[in-house]
Amino acid sequence: EAEFAAPLCVAVAVAGAGRAMPKAGGLSDDWFDHDGQITKRPVRALTLSTLAPRPMEHLWDIGGGSGSIAIEWLLTHPMTEATTVEIDPARAARITQNAARLGVDRLRVEQGDALEVIDRLAPPDAVFVGGGLSEALLQRLSERAKGARLVANAVTLESEMLLTQWQARLGGDLLRLALSEVTPLGRKRGWRSSYPIVQWSVTL
Ligand code: SAH
Repeated sequence: EAEFAAPLCVAVAVAGAGRAMPKAGGLSDDWFDHDGQITKRPVRALTLSTLAPRPMEHLWDIGGGSGSIAIEWLLTHPMTEATTVEIDPARAARITQNAARLGVDRLRVEQGDALEVIDRLAPPDAVFVGGGLSEALLQRLSERAKGARLVANAVTLESEMLLTQWQARLGGDLLRLALSEVTPLGRKRGWRSSYPIVQWSVTL
């Protein structure tokens, strides 16, 4: 009859008292310092999934906000590259701090209007547009980022219209995210809807 050894106990010493960072994309918003302009966790998780980062690829993150998209892109693999473009100087500085705090030292932060900045960037494999969406920007991206995977999120009717028009011309997928969360409603609870987000993804 087989004899079973007593289970082997392995003691693991963990250095420091920091938070354990989950490996799945779509980190909790509180990993990032932000002023409210951040792609919230569920939408960020779906956006990263659509962006589909692979080793050696370079992301342009346009309208960086807190930098969460570019930072998570870089965290998925040590060989990825990312450049984030943010027009607001305070936010651009915050992006740099967020990256440093999370130990990400490969993020290039460009402060300025995306329309002016992208001409001097190394070509991308993927582009995310989370801010600054316009006809002129899409036009410029279709020339400067040919062959790249584009993912653009729209919240306003005006930007949604742009994306639906461009999808009619170039194809790709339109996905509408209409998420709700339970919040207190008086002494009871109710579903609070977020603004619906329309996401266009296409290979340029
Ligand atoms: N994805 C970001 C949130 C984006 S909010 C995150 O997860 O944190 C949209 C951002 O786009 C804002 O910070 C705004 O300042 C920036 N923005 C708007 N127009 C822009 C432009 N023309 N060029 C660069 N950034 C722009």
